Amino acid sequence: MEPAQAMTSNGNGNGGGHEYDIISWFETVSRNAAAVQRETLARILHLNYGVEYLKKWFGDMEIQGMDSCALESLYTSLVPLASHADFEPFIQRIADGDTAPILTQQPITTLSLSSGTTEGRQKLVPFTRHSSQTTLQICRLAASYRSRVYPIRDGGRILEFIYSSKQFKTKGGLTAGTATTHYYASEEFKIKQQKTKCFTCSPHEVISGGDYKQSTYCHLLLGLFFSDQVEFIASTFAYSIVQAFASFEEQWGELCSDIKDGTLSSTITQPRMRKAVLDIVSPNPCLASQIEAICRESRTSHWYGIIPKLWPNAKYVYSIMTGSMQPYLKKLRHYAASLPLVSADYGSTESWIGVNLDPCLPPEDVSFAVMPTFAYFEFIPLYRQKQDLTSGTVDFMENVPVPLSQVKLGQEYEIILTTFTGLYRYRLGDVVEVAGFHNGTPKLNFICRKNLILTVNIDKNTEKDLQIVVERGSQLLSKHGAELVDFTSHANVVYQPGHYMIYWEIKGDVEERVLSECCRLMDASFVDHGYVVSRRTNSIGPLELCIVETGTFKKILDYFIGNGAALSQFKTPRCTSNQMLLRILNLCTIKRFRSTAYS
Ligand code: AMP
Repeated sequence: MEPAQAMTSNGNGNGGGHEYDIISWFETVSRNAAAVQRETLARILHLNYGVEYLKKWFGDMEIQGMDSCALESLYTSLVPLASHADFEPFIQRIADGDTAPILTQQPITTLSLSSGTTEGRQKLVPFTRHSSQTTLQICRLAASYRSRVYPIRDGGRILEFIYSSKQFKTKGGLTAGTATTHYYASEEFKIKQQKTKCFTCSPHEVISGGDYKQSTYCHLLLGLFFSDQVEFIASTFAYSIVQAFASFEEQWGELCSDIKDGTLSSTITQPRMRKAVLDIVSPNPCLASQIEAICRESRTSHWYGIIPKLWPNAKYVYSIMTGSMQPYLKKLRHYAASLPLVSADYGSTESWIGVNLDPCLPPEDVSFAVMPTFAYFEFIPLYRQKQDLTSGTVDFMENVPVPLSQVKLGQEYEIILTTFTGLYRYRLGDVVEVAGFHNGTPKLNFICRKNLILTVNIDKNTEKDLQIVVERGSQLLSKHGAELVDFTSHANVVYQPGHYMIYWEIKGDVEERVLSECCRLMDASFVDHGYVVSRRTNSIGPLELCIVETGTFKKILDYFIGNGAALSQFKTPRCTSNQMLLRILNLCTIKRFRSTAYS
């Protein structure tokens, strides 16, 4: 079953009769998920039979004609689990121009860069036509489910805050860039717009401009210019929308004057972007004065509900809002007011994983139904280790991997991928929990990145634990009229005892005693037994809250963008040991508080 081809001929991501085709296709594959998974694995192995990596494990063993059940057990018994580091030498040879069949039989001509914002290091992974086709497919499937709940008008527009990074050539002449960059440049991105009958406001010159500040301004300008046609507001990760509206708060005056006169701010210096935008806009004084009136009024209510006011026909806001994006929900809700927030699908540079079939659920409750044709998925059962005071820093205990058909409700797992792009039993590093099933395919809750753990000694707090703690602290902040803009953390073990540092950028003035109380509250809110015990015995020192100056997290974003990350895939690292980041954070710290909890 070739998923992408099946989709192109059968499916349509928008309302109407064809919608049924793509949904019914997914019903069929999810009902037969176990068999479809075995077929998917067999297809991957047959396509790539004889490549160097597989030969290492299969030798000259003949797999053609083998039954898919037997092949599945042979594969999982011969091929070991691997991490990105294991694939790196192979990928490097491909990047350097080795055209031998190393990971795939089809030559790889493009490489993707993961955002690197969760682990601090960008990883290169193979990208093929299949990668764009699965993106198209999941976009159309998700669009069909959305349009059942929130129908949109054919021929409408999407105000999309999307950004390509710069593409570059590797030593061997392969094109490298982020996966989203390749997708926005692909034929599939155009097909998606035609099939879903909804078109991005901005031309490719804006998306691919390479300077996110200039692109954001143009996205906003064009979104306003087409305001009555905009059906929904979107981005890859929610951060980009929040970031765009923070810019809007500053730039609305200039945007209004550009709308009025059909001009473009001189801050947009890129000739191709300028030309593309100026070819679209024309003077519209009437629209400009409406926008200006809305902005003047909204300024006094801190821009509450600005999105539906400016885009009265918008049906929802659509973006990834789970995982490390959850902290931006509050701000997003503020801008969106009663407009629904629809959380987008779950994927990675390595492969798409799951689709949100319940667009009407609030982002906090969203889970993702695994797409059984996209890759072969295995799941390592994870158990949060019972605290053993003598043990070191082990976080999760693992059991042997199970196939998709054997996962259990409520159990946490790490995802393993075998992809059409040449990754075999690849540990993705994401922790998920099985929240339910859609027919025979599991629905996953994203929990956290596995190795993003705040730990000093026997304590272990995941990104999710940290989020809960920060949420409690920031509630107190809100009561005093201030708001948390962004945060990160670091386990400082330079001096004994080690301690947690939480960095906050805040908006608004708050008294020091309130911040000190926020610090105490956060320290006392970590419920991890190892942490509590260590704090009581002072083998972990008091938590330190560092308030950083306004704009610090923008500097961090600029640091990542400067190193080749794309805004579309940017995720603020919630826990970091990256020396450059710590340097920025420490240089920008303007106030420090030490917790008085446990004293
Ligand atoms: P990257 O490939 O660097 O853009 O990042 C992919 C990672 O982003 C995944 O492995 C997840 O950790 C995270 N991610 C992607 N989609 C979601 C989602 N819907 N919810 C939560 N986290 C996500």
